[in-house]
Amino acid sequence: MAQSSPDQHVAVLAFPFGCHPWPLLNLACRLACAAPKVRFSFFNTPKSNLKLFSTSHAESPQNLTPYVVADGVPQGHVLTPGNPLEELDLFLKAAPESFRKGMDMAVAKTGRKISCLLTDAFLVFACEMARDMHIKWVPFWVPAPYYLSAHRYTDLIHDTYSNACGGGEDGINIDGNSILRKPEAQKSGIEPADKALEFVPGLSKMRFRDLPQEVLLGDSSSSLFSSTLYRIGGVLPQATAVIMNSFQELNPATLTDDLKSKFQDLLYVGFLTLTLPFPPLPPSHSDATGCLPWLDNQKPTSVAYISFGTVAAVPPDHEFFALAEALQESHVPFLWSLRDNFKEILPTGFLQRTRTQGKIVPWAPQTHVLAHRAVGVHVTHCGYNSVFESIVGEVPMICRPILGDNMFNARMVEDDWGIGVGVEGGVFTKNGMLKSLKVVLGQGKRMPQETRDTKDFVLKAVLGHEQGKRPMREKIKDIKDRVVKAAGPNGIAFKDFKTLVGVISK
Ligand code: UDP
Repeated sequence: MAQSSPDQHVAVLAFPFGCHPWPLLNLACRLACAAPKVRFSFFNTPKSNLKLFSTSHAESPQNLTPYVVADGVPQGHVLTPGNPLEELDLFLKAAPESFRKGMDMAVAKTGRKISCLLTDAFLVFACEMARDMHIKWVPFWVPAPYYLSAHRYTDLIHDTYSNACGGGEDGINIDGNSILRKPEAQKSGIEPADKALEFVPGLSKMRFRDLPQEVLLGDSSSSLFSSTLYRIGGVLPQATAVIMNSFQELNPATLTDDLKSKFQDLLYVGFLTLTLPFPPLPPSHSDATGCLPWLDNQKPTSVAYISFGTVAAVPPDHEFFALAEALQESHVPFLWSLRDNFKEILPTGFLQRTRTQGKIVPWAPQTHVLAHRAVGVHVTHCGYNSVFESIVGEVPMICRPILGDNMFNARMVEDDWGIGVGVEGGVFTKNGMLKSLKVVLGQGKRMPQETRDTKDFVLKAVLGHEQGKRPMREKIKDIKDRVVKAAGPNGIAFKDFKTLVGVISK
């Protein structure tokens, strides 16, 4: 490991939404262990830190100190229910000042000036902050690398799509996550949403319809969060090094080569929510919701595990309702990570009727759940971490992508790797979900007549995934092997992590 200078002080700035703080904290802990003379100060909002430190499996090293910073929500302000962007925008507006105050506090406490900013890459203001402080800026990219390329090429993607839709802004109309074409564009007879993104290095497997709104709309979006995302591609080339929450070996060489040519340095340090080889759950973070003992009592590969990650955005109420109805009717045992405030959306009496069939918890030790032999399918929004946790647990997926990089990840899971299926029509319906469960869990289960009769979708999926080609579970093992190899001592992540330790230590 590189020699660390004794007066180095790394300020770690978290983006307190979604899963983002978890991998950043894990990275900071790993770095703090590898560079024991360097001091690390971890800054995050009170609410996020509370959840993070109560659920994280990372053991905090002594040279890492957590601090809280203001969340930007004015005192007495009541956040509008169902509008997660409001909290995000308030945070981002206040963030430069909140983090500056936090760092002043840490400098006063430790007597060490800040020597490096290690930040979530979404905190684009850190670029200017680091420049003003004459220190290094090392942003950490948490979502899929594909999504970073989409941000790097937002203008090109936006312009190409507008033109393909019939010219200019008028061609694009976005409703929720679906791309609609305005009537003028429809007349032209072009169907651009299904076109591959061949003109973006590394994205040839993706299609326009896999892109999130913030990329398709380019700079024309109104929220501070969207305009922040728009700036990412422009500021990251100024960073000392961009760190990826992924393994280089799992990404197309064209994608990595292109990003490397754009950035001063690009380092892949592996998945930060997964430790490989897979460790047992540390006793200090016992399974408070009792998921693992419940799974112990289920048959092998029989359980559907359902989770839509950490973000506030979830499928609409009617889809939750349909999903619940399908679970009940399928008789498949289920474990559902569902926050309490969503329980009211479920059908009346559902909890009572399924009390012996399923278990609902507000938070599950997901990596351990997915590694449990009882889990047979993962119903997921296809967050990047969730997808690879599923791969390492060898659990095929039913995909219902929601936002951000989810659609890209689902495309890989369904079409490229063949280790999961989408829900019919892209949204949960009772019958569609019953079919997807049947496809993934196999033919042996007790299923309603209605589902046995709807053969088209099942046969297509079964022939595609289970008969004509190799079964999903076999294919998953291949990808898992690649992950395990990449995480080994000869993998690129091992070398890139050492380089990163050198960057933050000097
Ligand atoms: N997670 C968990 N327990 C839960 C729900 C989620 O441990 O009950 C973790 C999961 O293991 C993953 C992260 O939260 O590491 C979600 O990250 P992902 O990238 O999949 O989705 P996001 O939350 O960013 O949409």
